[in-house]
Amino acid sequence: MSQARIGLVGLGVMGANLSLNIAENGFPVAVFNRAGSVTDAFVASAGALSARIVPAKTYEALIASLAKPRAVIIMVKAGGAVDAVIDALTPLMEPGDMIIDAGNADFHDTRRREAALREKRLNFIGMGVSGGEEGARHGPSIMIGGNPESYAVIRDIIEAIAAKHEGAPCAAHFGPDGAGHFVKTVHNGIEYADMQMIAEVYGLLRDGAGRRPAEIGALFADWNKGPLKSYLVEISGRVLGTPDPQTGKPIVDVIVDMAGQKGTGRWTVIEALRLGQSPSTIEAAVAARSWSSEKATREEGAALFDDLASDPLLIPSDRELEQALLAAKIIAYDQGFKILSAASGEYEWNLDLASAAEVWREGCIIRSALLDDMAAAIREGLPQGQLIFAPRFAGLIREGARALRHTVSYAASAGLPVPAFANALAYFDTMRQSRGTADLIQAQRDFFGAHGFARIDGGADRHGPWAGAVAHS
Ligand code: NDP
Repeated sequence: MSQARIGLVGLGVMGANLSLNIAENGFPVAVFNRAGSVTDAFVASAGALSARIVPAKTYEALIASLAKPRAVIIMVKAGGAVDAVIDALTPLMEPGDMIIDAGNADFHDTRRREAALREKRLNFIGMGVSGGEEGARHGPSIMIGGNPESYAVIRDIIEAIAAKHEGAPCAAHFGPDGAGHFVKTVHNGIEYADMQMIAEVYGLLRDGAGRRPAEIGALFADWNKGPLKSYLVEISGRVLGTPDPQTGKPIVDVIVDMAGQKGTGRWTVIEALRLGQSPSTIEAAVAARSWSSEKATREEGAALFDDLASDPLLIPSDRELEQALLAAKIIAYDQGFKILSAASGEYEWNLDLASAAEVWREGCIIRSALLDDMAAAIREGLPQGQLIFAPRFAGLIREGARALRHTVSYAASAGLPVPAFANALAYFDTMRQSRGTADLIQAQRDFFGAHGFARIDGGADRHGPWAGAVAHS
């Protein structure tokens, strides 16, 4: 076989499937895995595609099997493992060669790695890949950051392996260094909110209405035919209809209610706060996962407060819940796009937000019918940068606002937690309140810290007459 077009390090779940996808699209790929037995097993299971796979047992052999300029994808556990692989590869590479980190990296790490490799005249691309195992194998959504000249070298491969939306590849170059990984991080943050909101509806129907998982699953399957059509609603419906082979019970009923997380949701929130943004729906979803892991505490709390009575309102109808979920979801995306916009300004990435919505239309976990409309709305221009103000979404929010309010009110009255829904509603209500309550916050700050305030009449006096303030004790 002639030399491979591209190399790949890390034949775990994602790396193995991405390699098969590359080979299937006609590109010879050289592969390396730290544990060599994994490489052997991978090649043995690749069937006819093994003709386009070059197994390498050392980094030297991997590099030797690549056409120049050499390009190596790293698909290993995020963090120190990525640095270890970079350290192993760089002494073997020549100026103009490139390393592509396709894992879920913190974009600050990507910026650091890009700068360090640039010093060595090597190129570094941060490539966000979404779609899980199935996406990696048959077409993920791909978000690229790095210099455009490097991307041009591998663009044909990336566009061939990416998911397609009406023939257009769901892969885009977003800007330099960490831009692609940041878009992927925010994608994951939105994914957290999306998943949490679906789980909150499940909770209201299970604990409020006493519905069985299969009934809730059937409702989700029905919603998946309407404006909520999305991968996450679809799989939630399927999950809820699945029995446990061992007990015959619904599978969700035998799963411990403690959610894992690997950090991308948290990174989204941390970076958003750094940028002066507050993605409260995403933060609520991260918090809900963290609280879920405090199982023993929750059990003690349940016993301690078991006797607290609630006086629930009438539970929202299925139609209201559908409208509430749609409205809350749009609000979560509004917050996600605002983070992207803020980061774009801060890091001078010039991110194309519509392009983000476009590459998320297929292949990735948050793919949904709504994203096509979101891309169109962003291209038309968002009033005040708010998706919820864009005419086509303002209309949906207007239709769903009452249902969202009823859902949050019902949940509060029934003592059922809906942190993402509640935060979505609070954000929406804040963003439609022309005079808020920060006048008092400013007065408090000036009272105790002489921080000053702006007057609505534009007057010059920036401090209150606090020495004469009335004590109401
Ligand atoms: P796996 O756990 O399946 O595989 C991890 C891989 O990393 C293995 O090949 C392992 O090699 C290798 N590795 C770990 N440490 C080192 C090291 N120090 N040096 C060299 N190789 C090392 O991970 P995934 O495929 O699930 O994930 C890979 C990346 O993709 C992660 O960043 C993940 O966050 C991201 N990702 C995962 C998705 C998913 O759905 N799973 C979706 C999107 C992104 P060995 O066999 O020798 O241990």
